[in-house]
Amino acid sequence: MISIVGAGPTGALLAILLQRRGHDIELFETRPDPRAVRAESGRSINLALADRGIHALQTAGVFDRLGTALLPMRGRLIHLENKDTVFQPYGQRPHEVIYSVSRHRLNQALIGVAAGLPGIGLNFQHRFEAADFGTATAQIRDLRRDRILYVPMQPMLATDGAGSTMRRQMSALGLIQAGETDLAHGYKELSIPAGPGGSFRLASEALHIWPRGNHMLIALPNDDGSFTATLFLPKTGPISFQSLNDPDAVDQFLTQSFPDARELMPQAITEFGTHTTGFLGEVSASPWHIGATAALIGDAAHAMVPFHGQGMNCCFEDCIEFDACVARHSSAGANSWAAAFAQFGAERKPNTDAITAMALENYLEMRESVADPQFQLRQALSLELERRFPRRFIPRYSMVMFHHEIPYLAARQRGAIQTEILLALTQGAAALSDIDFGRAEREINTKLPPV
Ligand SMILES: Cc1cc2nc3c(=O)[nH]c(=O)nc-3n(C[C@H](O)[C@H](O)[C@H](O)COP(=O)(O)OP(=O)(O)OC[C@H]3O[C@@H](n4cnc5c(N)ncnc54)[C@H](O)[C@@H]3O)c2cc1C
Repeated sequence: MISIVGAGPTGALLAILLQRRGHDIELFETRPDPRAVRAESGRSINLALADRGIHALQTAGVFDRLGTALLPMRGRLIHLENKDTVFQPYGQRPHEVIYSVSRHRLNQALIGVAAGLPGIGLNFQHRFEAADFGTATAQIRDLRRDRILYVPMQPMLATDGAGSTMRRQMSALGLIQAGETDLAHGYKELSIPAGPGGSFRLASEALHIWPRGNHMLIALPNDDGSFTATLFLPKTGPISFQSLNDPDAVDQFLTQSFPDARELMPQAITEFGTHTTGFLGEVSASPWHIGATAALIGDAAHAMVPFHGQGMNCCFEDCIEFDACVARHSSAGANSWAAAFAQFGAERKPNTDAITAMALENYLEMRESVADPQFQLRQALSLELERRFPRRFIPRYSMVMFHHEIPYLAARQRGAIQTEILLALTQGAAALSDIDFGRAEREINTKLPPV
């Protein structure tokens, strides 16, 4: 029997995939059953779901259950300081959209599918507290009865998120090397309520961004006509969560920085005071497993900053790849788990390192570059080059978001070459009509092999 700690997106999807391979699973989750409770407010209410996540959810038969919970977003709508807007499409084919999805609805769908499968035991309000790697036994507290269960780790998969208790214990015992880095920015969720009759008060098929250099606001649509906005702000300094410590200062800041959005957020001051400030950071660990006893998967192994909208998508891809490793080693008898864990770590980590780096790079891009005309020209040129040379030039953003067949590492490596080409071609250019497409073709054919 496999035990899984944490029934977030990773743990729930992993349980479904491994059950289909014939394994019995016990899933332990601190929180109550998401099907029986309302969504928590102020905590990353909606997420961007893209091709890698969709592919994994389709493989597990969960995607079709999401129905109206999915709201297509076709591009970024940039809100400039003078209130002008610029639309930047994410892709250029009809299917190249990403979806805003409610975290709660997604969790409910995953747990709903898992609950319907024989051989999956769901244990909510059960918290993993400690592991004894010598005896391969975990202590799990049943929070409803306040008693400890001793659960064999044969193996135990830890999908307990970025603050993973399992990872911290492995690291504290010196069994793995692990690190957590905090970004200088935090985030806070605010809401843009629906208009009359549940109408959207901003364009619904876009991810809205108000880039302001050192801080920014973004907003994703919800299926009730509202938007969930997230304010990213330095934790300390002149304009920061620390300095905005009274309602008047918050109001003045929001009105000055985001006047059009402020008008749509009547509850912003109250929400700023009551919603917790979230931390942003990265998690790294190596290796991700202890023999055949326990393994870290998902955010527990490699959390990243949320600026590429890939954290959960990457976790879903982890599940597919982990499942494939389990299948490959299933005949290895007593060594099968250790072999599957080792192969998963060796093959997956270069890719999770690559997306972690790209997510951090996107942080600067979203705050600053998207409003820069040269950046916008490079973006327009990327799409044009993809139209002209579709087998060789695919914008990095598209490789990450719309091409699950291209590993993250390859997307990053090709992306670096493409950036060099774009910078060279746009030097001194103000519009696409200034670009030398003959040179573009030569550079692309020389430097970028077909995908
Ligand atoms: C502000 C923000 C915005 C984001 N936006 C996006 C986005 O647009 N697109 C995207 O793809 N990703 C996004 N992400 C990343 C995404 O949220 C994570 O990558 C994803 O939730 C990780 O899933 P997980 O199951 O590994 O971990 P988690 O979602 O953290 O789930 C871990 C689960 O384990 C449980 N747990 C924790 N400790 C214990 C314990 N000791 N015992 C038992 N259970 C335990 C928790 O209650 C939780 O249910 C965002 C993240 C943030 C912070």
